[in-house]
Amino acid sequence: MKIKSAEFVISNTDVFKCPKENLPEYAFIGRSNVGKSSLINMLTNHKSLAKTSGKPGKTQLINHFIINKNWFLVDLPGYGYASVSKDKRKTFQKFIKDYFNKRMQLACTFVLIDSRHAPQKIDLEFMEFLGINGIPFCIVFTKADKLNKSTLPKNIEIYKKELLEYWEELPTYFISSSTDKTGREEILDFIQNVNDS
Ligand code: GDP
Repeated sequence: MKIKSAEFVISNTDVFKCPKENLPEYAFIGRSNVGKSSLINMLTNHKSLAKTSGKPGKTQLINHFIINKNWFLVDLPGYGYASVSKDKRKTFQKFIKDYFNKRMQLACTFVLIDSRHAPQKIDLEFMEFLGINGIPFCIVFTKADKLNKSTLPKNIEIYKKELLEYWEELPTYFISSSTDKTGREEILDFIQNVNDS
């Protein structure tokens, strides 16, 4: 898919204030610092559509962008950042959960996982939540450029094994690097295919 336009639409914490247009929607979520903003900017060919920052936990809103005037890209808050107060963390969870349970046009969620790290409970639990609620998702293993050629497949294998403890089938997954644009075409083509189906 070619990206012809990418524009910010609205930010909020209320699913009912999200755009009313019935366009297919693709959400991006993951632990803070996983590389979500960088991936969104890489996919859309923008330097700063999503804010990248060294400060984890900053994006605490549901951010809608309209791409090619025919689908929404949604940047969701990063989860699992320790220095956000427990109370605040609960509100995030509530409005994130509301978003997933009520946003009917959500076509697919991309769960971002740092390819350098061993499987983390918070990510596995989040995918379990999606599964239980019948919300389609894919995994994106980020920052692939940070690993050497033998460690990357080894880490992916470890992850797959862990997932197969919980899931009968593996979800679709992508490997990405925002530095060298690995995975860009595959992810955009996947979105195109879902939009066309
Ligand atoms: P977010 O908190 O998930 O939105 O993460 P950011 O996109 O802000 O990235 C967090 C940090 O990781 C920043 O310092 C980025 O430059 C770095 N980063 C993100 N993606 C990549 C990648 O694909 N490769 C490398 N080498 N660094 C990355």
